[in-house]
Amino acid sequence: MKFVWPVLAISLLSLGFIETASAPTYQLPIAGAWAAPPARVTDRPGNIKGDVMVLMYHRFEQSEKYMVRSLANFRSDLKRLRDAGFRPVTVSEYVDGKMDIPPGSSPVVLTFDDSWDTQFKLLRNGEPDPDTAVGVWLDFSKKHPEFPVKGTFFCLANGPFGTAAQGAKKIKMLQSWGSEIGAHTMTHPNLARLSDERVKEEMAKSKLYLESKGAKNVRTFALPYGNLPRNTSLLHGFVWKGKVFKYDAVVLAAGNPAPAPGSSRLNKLRIPRVIASQDTYGINNWLNRLQNKTWKPFVQP
Ligand SMILES: [Zn+2]
Repeated sequence: MKFVWPVLAISLLSLGFIETASAPTYQLPIAGAWAAPPARVTDRPGNIKGDVMVLMYHRFEQSEKYMVRSLANFRSDLKRLRDAGFRPVTVSEYVDGKMDIPPGSSPVVLTFDDSWDTQFKLLRNGEPDPDTAVGVWLDFSKKHPEFPVKGTFFCLANGPFGTAAQGAKKIKMLQSWGSEIGAHTMTHPNLARLSDERVKEEMAKSKLYLESKGAKNVRTFALPYGNLPRNTSLLHGFVWKGKVFKYDAVVLAAGNPAPAPGSSRLNKLRIPRVIASQDTYGINNWLNRLQNKTWKPFVQP
């Protein structure tokens, strides 16, 4: 509507409806200010068929170990991803194909399993502990608001994040930043070894547990150890204690980047994830391949 005013003011002036003396109080907008197209994040051409990297994190410590990301390497992951034009989305946004990211950017999904306390602790004053994954990401997002704390946390019935008293508060905080809470069973069993009844119990109870802690719409699920139940039809939904349970997305463990949201190759109940570690086929491999153009990710047109 900004452009209407000068036109209206000029026509009213020419008709003598307003005094010329009052005209200078109106500041004309800078030419073209409302017409500038949004700047592209990278010069990568749009590619809606490209794959999406779904990263898998577990524990965090000061030093890197097997299945443990050092906080320094996590900070470096955030920087590398942001600088390479990636923008965070949740698993739900990815499977729904509703990724609100700017032109020229690529989506990345950061997922966190097992709700370890090293992912998210609170200090005595209630603020996030800076020496946890969430603390590091929060600090990074203050300097880079385009890379907000927006990931999917696949939680167990451990508080979550180790302390029952603070579980609900942490869930509320994560959701307020745009993150999503997903389920990961109650006790982390190998689903391949359980009866159908026990699989249903683990999958249903964990959703109810997280929702009792304030998690909104728990519709994504991570398989412990990436192992499928023997009866894979349970992933399509089941009835437990008279109630229907169904997850819209199920993620596996280590693998390659996942197919694009609209791709016929995408099985929403078997989403592969890239391990975020120094592993040969982990995050570094794909970021290096992006650099030497041997991997073409999804790029927002
Ligand atoms: Zn796990």
